[in-house]
Amino acid sequence: MATVDDIDALLPQTQCTRCGYDGCRPYAQAIAAGDAPINQCPPGGAATIAALAALLERPALPLNPANGIEGPPLVVRIDEEVCIGCARCLPPCPVDAIVGARRQMHTVIEALCTGCELCIAPCPVDCISLVPRAALTEASPAPSAQDNRRRYDSHVTRLAARAARRAALLSARKAAALE
Ligand code: SF4
Ligand code: SF4
Ligand code: SF4
Repeated sequence: MATVDDIDALLPQTQCTRCGYDGCRPYAQAIAAGDAPINQCPPGGAATIAALAALLERPALPLNPANGIEGPPLVVRIDEEVCIGCARCLPPCPVDAIVGARRQMHTVIEALCTGCELCIAPCPVDCISLVPRAALTEASPAPSAQDNRRRYDSHVTRLAARAARRAALLSARKAAALE
């Protein structure tokens, strides 16, 4: 019987949430539990549906258009003339593909960007736009699912470590204030 790991291994690992789940693994868990159909992932498209159908011995279904359509690989670009350096685009990026510091211009590492779009909505000045990867002057191949997963795992680990450091600092301050 296919496990959550088996199913997760077939997903693109962009963590874009277009399937309606909070990332690829939660969607894999829902499929394994019988709570979700196999046609909910636009980045994976027909190839992912076919792979899931073969793994799970279920009929392939057309992609659910309510979640978006299948398209060419995309990346985002930041208009550096307009960027105000607020850094709000940094935390949502699941693969840490944006570099910059507060009050400094930000830029996207195109080789790492999955086109998940999660950085676009938080930008207060709308200076992040999507472009086809193929239109880049020096087009690099889209990152693999394995690379995306490795970078996402690092992202989650880094955020957890930062949260733990903050909690320890707050706890130490509270203890000092009580003394
Ligand atoms: S890549 Fe597919 S499975 Fe992963 S979060 Fe996006 S839509 Fe869901
Ligand atoms: S830069 Fe934006 S679109 Fe690219 S991976 Fe990060 S959040 Fe997604
Ligand atoms: S959210 Fe927009 S304005 Fe803020 S740093 Fe990112 S790209 Fe620049």
